Amino acid sequence: MKPYFPTLQGNERLKQQLGDRVLQGTMAHAYLLQGEIGTGKRLFAHLLAAAMCCEQRTADGVPLPCGVCNTCRKIMEDRTPDLTVIERGDNATIGIEAIRRAKEDMYLSSTENDKKVYIICEANKMTIAAQNALLIALEEPPRDVMIFLLCDDASSLLPTVRSRVQTIRMSLFDPQQMAAFLSTDPKAQRLRTESEELFLDLIVSAAGSPGRALGLLARKEMGALSAKRDCVLAILSAVHSRMRFSTLYEAIGGLSTKRQDMIEELGQLLLALRDLILLKRDENAPLCFFGDRDAARERCDTISLRALFAIYDATQAAILQLNQNVNIGVVTASFADALRAAPSK
Ligand SMILES: [Zn+2]
Repeated sequence: MKPYFPTLQGNERLKQQLGDRVLQGTMAHAYLLQGEIGTGKRLFAHLLAAAMCCEQRTADGVPLPCGVCNTCRKIMEDRTPDLTVIERGDNATIGIEAIRRAKEDMYLSSTENDKKVYIICEANKMTIAAQNALLIALEEPPRDVMIFLLCDDASSLLPTVRSRVQTIRMSLFDPQQMAAFLSTDPKAQRLRTESEELFLDLIVSAAGSPGRALGLLARKEMGALSAKRDCVLAILSAVHSRMRFSTLYEAIGGLSTKRQDMIEELGQLLLALRDLILLKRDENAPLCFFGDRDAARERCDTISLRALFAIYDATQAAILQLNQNVNIGVVTASFADALRAAPSK
């Protein structure tokens, strides 16, 4: 049997399904890879591209993609004219020009590989005009063209775009999977021998995202991330204990004033809420934000399911507004109002 995508951690069922599809030649022409930051969307898109073009894809016992043939290496290192990665760079959005250029390129034949692959990172940052420009390519792509849209939140993608692509959801790691993943990383192991507590903090701060865990280790921003977690927990406490409004505002005031950081913090709040909602229904649900199940259960007991859903909706609305460039002060104020209005029971 061929091992599929061995360099991508976790996501076993996805890897099995898509590996089979590559070998059967039944891949769709466009996919939306959806998942939190650091869950391996970009890596997986590259691996899928490599798998379809790998020189050893039919060889028995060799992993798919092999990762060592010339084609695999060029794709994984973005060194082939048949792979185009579109990113927004310093711009707030991906505009129509970038998509037009890619579309023109799609109609030229490939130079090196069997497929021409286009990876659009942060696809949810495409302007409406850019998304509309992409529609025709998604509907009737030239032969041998593959398009991967990557994003964490697909809500700002047009329904017409979403309906023309197949969605792949990257999974988050539970704390056990994260510990197993980090056990292969020398830096993480060094951290563990220095301090078991810091190691556990890393697992919890990564909130299920292996990429975020590695980023934390590399940037040594453990302190900053603990602070973000504290801010999320302070908001949860302020809401469910029905403390004075000033306490709630103080907790919300702990959120970053930088747009991207605030989006990340609210994303963590969503993960925490998700844990609590799942826990209401199933004692043994896998948790992503809370490393300590008892602590999560304790919080769960003090807040109703209705309230959790209301806070979840308010948080999602705030993230959407931030992504739509609404003024941060306005977002914070309406978020606070929505939390105040959340049912107490
Ligand atoms: Zn290969």
